[in-house]
Amino acid sequence: MSRIEIKQGSALFLDRDGVLNSRIVDGYVTKPADFVLLPGVLEALALLGQRFERIFVVTNQQGIGKGLMSEDDLKAIHDGFVRQVAAAGGHIDRIYHCPKLKSEHSFMRKPSVGMAVRARHDFPDIKLSESVMVGDMASDMLFGRRAGMTTVLVGSEAAEARRVPHLVDYAYPSLLDFAQSL
Ligand SMILES: [Mg+2]
Repeated sequence: MSRIEIKQGSALFLDRDGVLNSRIVDGYVTKPADFVLLPGVLEALALLGQRFERIFVVTNQQGIGKGLMSEDDLKAIHDGFVRQVAAAGGHIDRIYHCPKLKSEHSFMRKPSVGMAVRARHDFPDIKLSESVMVGDMASDMLFGRRAGMTTVLVGSEAAEARRVPHLVDYAYPSLLDFAQSL
């Protein structure tokens, strides 16, 4: 397996739950105390921050659409996370989230590519075709593929995505393993 080439305009897109923090199965992270980073994530982001000029998080958060948390609740979680990453030497340039319910079939909700289109609009210097999407689910891989990115599957709960090997370019046990491979 050849290494991923990082070129001018290569941005890194990261799924959140199951990549950065522990996924709550059949539940939602609704407050900072529920947001538990996975082992090695801060170290990984410090390494990745040296390689990628732009790093984005793209996350479906239909807990907002369900009324389980507010936009402000989510902002509190994300502000704390961004500060932690910066203190550890990394950078998160923007966090995009989709609050819509799955049943609304929003263009902004993965696996639709709305959040990638938004990032490209906000940061015209990035090239999606040179960018990388890291996620733990098939929907993340499909999002990355549809946006023309290289896809990276991480995590041990990736059985769903293993059913769609044609969408997965690279696979690693964790974000840190991916970061150390570059
Ligand atoms: Mg996930």
